[in-house]
Amino acid sequence: MKLIYCSNCHDVVRLMENRRFCECKNIWGRYVDNLYAEISEQAIPIGFENSSFYNAIKNRPKEGMGIKFNAFSIPEKCKTITVVKDKDSIPPEEAWLFENKEALESVKRGLDDAAAGRLSKFEESLEEFDELYKDLS
Ligand SMILES: [Zn+2]
Repeated sequence: MKLIYCSNCHDVVRLMENRRFCECKNIWGRYVDNLYAEISEQAIPIGFENSSFYNAIKNRPKEGMGIKFNAFSIPEKCKTITVVKDKDSIPPEEAWLFENKEALESVKRGLDDAAAGRLSKFEESLEEFDELYKDLS
């Protein structure tokens, strides 16, 4: 499994499908698929050797010495990792939208509706109110 290390806040974050940031938001990374990942410029990728890691967890001793597992730094040149330049990166404060498919779809629909001249529920209710007001006056 791939993880990233932040030399600023010393956080270690496991990569997943959605972009994940370190505690100080200086670095991020995500899996593009089961093997390939993309990370920000300052992120230092590390790997856990899955079999030895799961073995260490599965056979966790009650006391005494813990079971070692293999972890390694991933070389700067690695064909399964793409480094995304900071200038091409979505800022952390906007990232939530791109990581929440429902919210993103909702925003896209809203933009489509606005482009097509369709009214929002609020605008519709304002029109109804105007009609009602005309009838009463
Ligand atoms: Zn950090």
